[in-house]
Amino acid sequence: MSNGSFQINMRDMRFILYEQLGLERLCEFDKFKDFSRETFDMVLEEGAKLATEVIAPLNSIADKEGCTFERGIVKVPEAFHDAFKKYCEGGWIAASVDAEAGGQGLPESLGLATAEMFVAACCSFTTYPGLTRGAANLIESFGTREQKKLYLEKMYSGQWTGTMCLTEPQAGSAVGDIKTMAKKEGDHYLINGTKIFITAGDHNLTENIIHAVLARTPHAPPGIKGLSLFIVPKIRIHPDGTLAGPNDVNCGGIEHKMGLKGSATCTLNFGDEGKCQGYILGQEGQGIQLMFQVMNEARLGVGLQGFALGNVAYLYALKYAKERIQGVEIEKIKDPHAPRVPIIKHPDIRRMLMTMKAYVEGLRALLYRTAYYADLARVATDPQERENCENMIELVTPICKAYSTDLAFRITEWAIQVYGGYGYCGEYPVEQFCRDVKITSIYEGTNGIQAMDLVGRKLSQKKGALVMGWMKEISEFIEKHKGHPAFGPSVAQLEQAKNTLVNVTMHFAKVAAGGDRLYPMLQACPYLEMFGEVELAYLLLQQAIIAKDKLQAIFDKAGASAEEAQWRVIEEQAEAAFYSGKVHTAQFFMSNILPKVQSTAAAILGGDRSALAIPEVAF
Ligand SMILES: Cc1cc2nc3c(=O)[nH]c(=O)nc-3n(C[C@H](O)[C@H](O)[C@H](O)COP(=O)(O)OP(=O)(O)OC[C@H]3O[C@@H](n4cnc5c(N)ncnc54)[C@H](O)[C@@H]3O)c2cc1C
Repeated sequence: MSNGSFQINMRDMRFILYEQLGLERLCEFDKFKDFSRETFDMVLEEGAKLATEVIAPLNSIADKEGCTFERGIVKVPEAFHDAFKKYCEGGWIAASVDAEAGGQGLPESLGLATAEMFVAACCSFTTYPGLTRGAANLIESFGTREQKKLYLEKMYSGQWTGTMCLTEPQAGSAVGDIKTMAKKEGDHYLINGTKIFITAGDHNLTENIIHAVLARTPHAPPGIKGLSLFIVPKIRIHPDGTLAGPNDVNCGGIEHKMGLKGSATCTLNFGDEGKCQGYILGQEGQGIQLMFQVMNEARLGVGLQGFALGNVAYLYALKYAKERIQGVEIEKIKDPHAPRVPIIKHPDIRRMLMTMKAYVEGLRALLYRTAYYADLARVATDPQERENCENMIELVTPICKAYSTDLAFRITEWAIQVYGGYGYCGEYPVEQFCRDVKITSIYEGTNGIQAMDLVGRKLSQKKGALVMGWMKEISEFIEKHKGHPAFGPSVAQLEQAKNTLVNVTMHFAKVAAGGDRLYPMLQACPYLEMFGEVELAYLLLQQAIIAKDKLQAIFDKAGASAEEAQWRVIEEQAEAAFYSGKVHTAQFFMSNILPKVQSTAAAILGGDRSALAIPEVAF
C-alpha cells in the first residue's frame, strides 16, 4: 500500500500477528469472541487506508508549517483539523479500550499494529490522540463513577483531548522535585504551578483539553511520595458535561524543536489568578503509584513511535536504493561501458539495508509480542499464567522503550546514508524522520533512566523471578531447536549469547551485593543493549524457523526439490520471497549483530571504572 512513496509493510505485520504470535487464539476467549481473523484483517485494512490517504499527506506539511503561538493561542497545522475529525470518526482513539468503557474492544496487539501505521504516516499528528488515550486511561483506571461519566466518552470520541503534565523546569528526570501545588478547597483543589514541555498542552483542535497533573499537597512528604494526581480541565465543565468557562490554565509559549513540529509542546501556567480547579484521582499521595500503573503502556507507545519511524525510513531507503542508478557492479569496475546499476547492487548499501531490515523486523516482533502479553494477561484464567505475562511486560518494557528508540535514531541515520546527499536535503523524507525520532529516546523517561530501571529494579524484582521467567522461555526454545537441520548452529550462538547475558547479570548482582551501586549503573545502557540483542536474536530465529517450514511447503507444492526450485519459485512468488527474506535476515543478525554481545560483555566484566574515577576537571 502506498501514497506517493509512503509504504506499510503489511505482510510483515500479518506474519508477526498471525504466524508468529497466533493472534486468532485470542478469539477463543470470551473477551474477544466477537472477533475473527477476518475482522482483524478488516481493521488492518481500514487502518492502512486512513494512514495512507488521510494521515501520510500531513507529514511534510506538519514539518514545514509547524504549530504557531500568537496572542496566547496555539494553532496546529491547518490540515490536522479534517484528519483529526476522520481519525475520531473511525473510533481509533479507543480502538483497544474495552467496549464497556466506550472503546472498540480490540486486542492491544492489534491496536499497536494500527498505531504503527498512523505514527509512521505522521508522528506529530498522532501525539494528540495518543496523549488523549493516556490521560483517559488514567481516568478509566482510577476515576470515580462521576468522573468517568463526565470525561471518558468525550475523550475517547475525540471531542476533548488530554495531556500528561509531569515536567517542570527543576523536575525533569527527577519527578520527585515537582513543586506545583494543590490546595484543597471544598470538593476540588486549587492548582498552582508551571509545567513545561507538555505535549499537546494547548491547541485549537478541540473545545477542551483535560490535563492529568502531578502536584504536591501542602504538608505532603518530600519526594515522589508527596505527589498526587489531578484532573484539570482547560475549560471548566458543568455537571451535565457542558462547558462553563476558562479554568485559569494558560499557555506561556511553545517550544521550537528539532522535529515533531506539528506537535505543540507547551509551557502551561496553572492558577496564575488563583482560580484553577483540579479534581483528585485516587487519594492524596498516590500520584506516582497511579502513574506507574499506566506507565508501561505509555513506554510501549513511545517504543512504538521510535520503531515506526525507523521502519518507515527503512522502507523509503529500500525503495530509493532500488531506483537510484549510480556506478557499476564491483566485478565490472574497470569497464567504462559496464551498465550503470541501482545502488542496491552495492555491497555496502546491502549491508546497511540488511541491518535496518533485521532491526525493524525484530523490533516489530518485540513490541507486538509485549502488547500480546497484555492481551493474554487480560484473558488468562490461570493466575500463574497472568502473572507470567505481567512479569514479562514489566521486564521488557524498558527494553521496548529504550532499545527500540536508540536503534530507531540509528536506522533513520542509515536511511540518510543510503540516500547519499539527497538524504541530507529537505526535499526528501528521511532527514525529517531522523529529526522527528530523536525525541523518543528522551521523553517518557530518558533511555538512561530506562536502563537504570532495568538494572536497578527489574532484575531484582520479585527476587529475580522476572528475569528467570525470561531465561526459561529462551532456554525452552533453545532446547527445542538445538538440532534443527538448518538453524542448529544459530541456536547454539543464541545459547552462547544467552549464557553470556546470564554471566553479566550475575556479575551485577555480585557487585551490588558487595556494596557497589555505581558500577552497574555505569554499565546499565550497554547491558540494556545486550539484552535487546539477545531478545531480537531469539525472535528473529523464531521467525526464520517458521519461515523455513513455510518456504519448504511452497517448494513442495511447486513439485520440485527445494534445491532446484528455490530461485525460480522465489522469483515467481512474493510469498516465497518474503519467507526467504526472513531466513536470510535471521542469518545476518546471528552472524553480524549478535556477536557484539560478547565484546560488550567482555567490556562490562573487565570492570573498567575510568569514567567514574576521572576527576571532573580532567574531562
Ligand atoms: C518534545 C517534548 C515533549 C515532551 N512531552 C512531555 C509531556 O507531554 N509531559 C511531560 O510531563 N513531559 C514531557 N516532556 C519532558 C520530558 O519527559 C523530559 O524532557 C525528560 O523526562 C527529561 O527531563 P529533562 O529534559 O529535564 O532532562 P534531565 O532530567 O535534566 O536529564 C538530562 C540528562 O541527564 C540524565 N539524568 C538525569 N538524571 C539522572 C540520573 N538520576 N541518573 C542518570 N542520568 C540522569 C538524563 O538521562 C539525561 O541524559 C517532553 C519533552 C520534550 C522535549
